Amino acid sequence: MPLVPVKDILKCADENQFAAAAFDVFNFESISWVVKAAEIEKVPVILMFYPDMKTFIPLSTLAAIANDVARNAAVPVGVHLDHSRTFHDVMLGIPAGFQSIMFDGSARPFEENAAITRQVVESAHIMGVDVEAELGLVGSGSRKEDFMDDSLYTDPAFAKKFVEETNVDSLAVAIGNSHGHYVCEPHLDIKRLDEINRTISTPLVLHGGSGIPPEQVTESVKYGINKVNIGTEFFAKTKAAGAQALAEENSWLGAMNKAGEEVIPFVRSRLQWLNPTEFRLP
Ligand SMILES: [Zn+2]
Repeated sequence: MPLVPVKDILKCADENQFAAAAFDVFNFESISWVVKAAEIEKVPVILMFYPDMKTFIPLSTLAAIANDVARNAAVPVGVHLDHSRTFHDVMLGIPAGFQSIMFDGSARPFEENAAITRQVVESAHIMGVDVEAELGLVGSGSRKEDFMDDSLYTDPAFAKKFVEETNVDSLAVAIGNSHGHYVCEPHLDIKRLDEINRTISTPLVLHGGSGIPPEQVTESVKYGINKVNIGTEFFAKTKAAGAQALAEENSWLGAMNKAGEEVIPFVRSRLQWLNPTEFRLP
């Protein structure tokens, strides 16, 4: 029953001053571990997929598994397609069964990003699908300049213009965050985040949530972040736990059950970081 629109989860997060965690899941086990952890913590959660995963598993198969697990969960669960970089990618994701998608035009000039995002939003909303977009460039943690150069960060005035022109449901911002492993410790620009949050009422998203010191993540939640994407750390944790369990157990099923015992506490720890007000569902 609780497969819910991501925008409803973000509204709940905004009203209760926490951030929903969105984990980059990739198979049944990773989906079920994330949902189990959210059920224990009594918070909503978001299951998120990369479009490129279609190379390995059809997007419709992934969406069907995630949607089914969500419908049977004890907490609200959103299912989201991350980083679709073209209108074409979005149009593949929606009929595959995703009720929430990200269109990422952040590498394009402002006007082009806004124009395509507006087209995506208009089409997606007709089908009841909500849309996250990105403004400012969230690059790679492997390049220091991607997260240190503040000319790449989201400008509050442009953020206002962007959400007015596009009617997007949530906005990913660049405030000193990057994807993947950070080559050195990032320092989030909380002052800029606060200004963006005061300028627009659209829920804000932080990509590159792996490797940012926990106190900075918690601070960003206090100043307006309502969704945090966690990919790199989740991949590393599931790989390590899976490898260890496979070495110790005689069967795949037994090993996956054992790996879950390692991964679920990790997911719970991230849910706690993002929940400074200790919000709990009834
Ligand atoms: Zn991202």
